Amino acid sequence: MSNLEFKIPQEWEERIKDSWRSFIPEIAKDNLGIEYLRNLRDEKIYRISIRDTNGEKIIMCNNCEGEVSTQRVVHLIYFNENSTNKIKTEYVPYCKKCDNAPQVVGDPVYRF
Ligand SMILES: [Zn+2]
Repeated sequence: MSNLEFKIPQEWEERIKDSWRSFIPEIAKDNLGIEYLRNLRDEKIYRISIRDTNGEKIIMCNNCEGEVSTQRVVHLIYFNENSTNKIKTEYVPYCKKCDNAPQVVGDPVYRF
């Protein structure tokens, strides 16, 4: 675990510019080929596991081995001080046993 090198996958690199995001995923692989997922925002680490039956990838808690849940988080987009026109939605992983659920309403997005 200690020598894991986390990197934001290229397809998600743009997300780091969005200060409002609750979740910016980083991926690392250990010397056994096991993949880990870290949220750059809070540095929580999860493990990516393959379900035997159909090869589907699932995210496991590295702490309790439970399957990780996702919380839908909405961000209000403010175009000026008084108008709220739209929302942005993201899905934030968290462990129901070990983590506090992410806030349902995340940081606002300001577009002036
Ligand atoms: Zn857990």
